[in-house]
Amino acid sequence: MEGPSLYLAAEQLQPFAGRRITGVSGNSKIGIERLAGLEVRQIFSWGKHLVFQFDTFALRVHFMLWGTFAATVEGQSVTGDYRRSGPPRLVLLFPNGEITIWAASVKFVEDANAKGAYDFSADVMSDQWNARAALAKLRAFPRAEIADVLLDQAIFAGVGNIIKNEVLFRTRVSPFAKISAISDRKLRAIVADARAFSFRFLELRRVFALRKNLEIYRKSTCPRCGGKIERRVHGQRARRSFFCRKCQAVRLTGSSRTPIRHSRSGTSSRTAPRRDGGGRPRRIRLRAQA
Ligand SMILES: [Zn+2]
Repeated sequence: MEGPSLYLAAEQLQPFAGRRITGVSGNSKIGIERLAGLEVRQIFSWGKHLVFQFDTFALRVHFMLWGTFAATVEGQSVTGDYRRSGPPRLVLLFPNGEITIWAASVKFVEDANAKGAYDFSADVMSDQWNARAALAKLRAFPRAEIADVLLDQAIFAGVGNIIKNEVLFRTRVSPFAKISAISDRKLRAIVADARAFSFRFLELRRVFALRKNLEIYRKSTCPRCGGKIERRVHGQRARRSFFCRKCQAVRLTGSSRTPIRHSRSGTSSRTAPRRDGGGRPRRIRLRAQA
């Protein structure tokens, strides 16, 4: 799930702020029993984190690539159309409803004010988002590929692979372009659109119309020139880029190729390495939650 989905989640879960947890279950091993009977003080999102603040500590949920959740308030579903599978990681029961979380990373943060530790100027969904600061941080990585840096949560908290691909297509920039090779005007456009498109993503998510309104992510034909949309796993993060060679002026070089990992048996494989935040390596073919 990307930033706008977390922003929406925090909004959908507000009916539980100020409410007491009456039951806890799930396969999480972090000691979730301590949540029973506690009152939720605040629910907020930062980037791809969803945080439940209690009196003396907080519960931080990171949905990684595969995590998802559902909630009901007074018997009505308040959440989206996310796919879910397997036993829940965490179920929180309240007098007015329940929250169920699957396949996410959950962690306790021993802080009575977890919100204070986050830099909201780096969150593309925040009122405190600082485009100028993001531009300065971008320029500190002249040799990095733009597709990699757009996924850096210290610069663009909340931007995931869908937003990355759409923003690069919308601004007509090659995902393989090095920061130093991109003009100031284009860099500013990318920074501005990282926020603008995130809000469009939010509005589409609200009405369950995200997938069909994407222009390039997982598409096959360029909506602008009718050419073929190509896909390639690349960069330090080994994430997939979708691109139109013509519209995004793509020039592929050796360093842009898929990193090949060598196994002990001497053969090569193209499975994705560990991603930020941990978790088991997975085949990229699986579709992440939006
Ligand atoms: Zn095109």
